[in-house]
Amino acid sequence: YESKQRAGTYTRYGAEFDHHSPERLHLLGDLRRALDHPDAPGVNLFYQPQVRLVDGEVIGAEALLRYSHPERGVVNPAEIIETAEHSSVMRMLTERVVDIALRQLRTWRESGYDLRMAVNVSVRDLQSPEFTDFLTERIDAYGVNAKRFQLEITESALMADPRRVLQNVQRLSDLGVGISLDDFGTGFSSMQHLRRLPVTEIKIDKSFVTTLCDDQENAAIVSTTIDLGRALDVEVVAEGVEDEKVRRQLEGWGCHAGQGWHFAKPMNADAFERWMAEHRKR
Ligand code: C2E
Ligand code: MG
Ligand code: MG
Ligand code: MG
Repeated sequence: YESKQRAGTYTRYGAEFDHHSPERLHLLGDLRRALDHPDAPGVNLFYQPQVRLVDGEVIGAEALLRYSHPERGVVNPAEIIETAEHSSVMRMLTERVVDIALRQLRTWRESGYDLRMAVNVSVRDLQSPEFTDFLTERIDAYGVNAKRFQLEITESALMADPRRVLQNVQRLSDLGVGISLDDFGTGFSSMQHLRRLPVTEIKIDKSFVTTLCDDQENAAIVSTTIDLGRALDVEVVAEGVEDEKVRRQLEGWGCHAGQGWHFAKPMNADAFERWMAEHRKR
């Protein structure tokens, strides 16, 4: 099992990805310098609404990293994570993301928006207790309800060192933080993670959702995952909802919430608030 996990991690982050290319090292250095700065210039979050399907109510937002590099412009978050994940920059980045997201959550609460905030975390973050300590301290400092905060964990993150990851996740769960299994169905041990971790939510990967109306296999996977969530009393959120047909089908199957371009693209905080105001009038 151990070697299979190593192999899984290696395939994803090894061969096809060169961490030492000059371009990557350059990016890492620039990111570190930005994060060393108190305002972290260029490091921003976009927010994408999560919408309850039965009534269209916005239940929360997922925070998504947007880093604008001084020369390259906005860099794809996946590239940033893969570049940072093997260095100490990852923790600096995640701590910054968590800090911005918690501050935004408090601001929205003060403006009367009772939302929850979901943040993505990486392999590195869950391996050490320091991140757990940091998050605990920040939730307290901002005075936000831990139940309004959620961590989206991808499967690759869970392969690294299952026992230590489990301990850290358990501590956060005890605080009330929601635990969402991101990109559900794309890894090889989704079911094991579902059993081992204190999961409160499953997020069905967009690769199954986007085409579910034209692809019978994807339709079967999505509807079965929704049933599984119901049986285990875990909320199910579908990502990559791009049109009304898919939204309606998901609602018909009893999926709790959806996220995707059909509702809104990820937006900066100002645009998110404007969108919320418009959305409420409908
Ligand atoms: P994810 O967590 O699965 O996030 C969903 C991705 O789907 C986002 O891509 C979002 O912009 C995109 N998306 C949303 N709606 C639709 C849709 O209707 N159709 C399609 N085709 N795509 C849609 P993004 O922002 O490029 O982020 C990519 C991945 O990077 C995220 O996947 C997440 O794994 C990672 N990521 C983003 N921000 C952070 C962060 O702050 N920390 C960490 N550790 N990872 C992050
Ligand atoms: Mg996510
Ligand atoms: Mg996802
Ligand atoms: Mg994804």
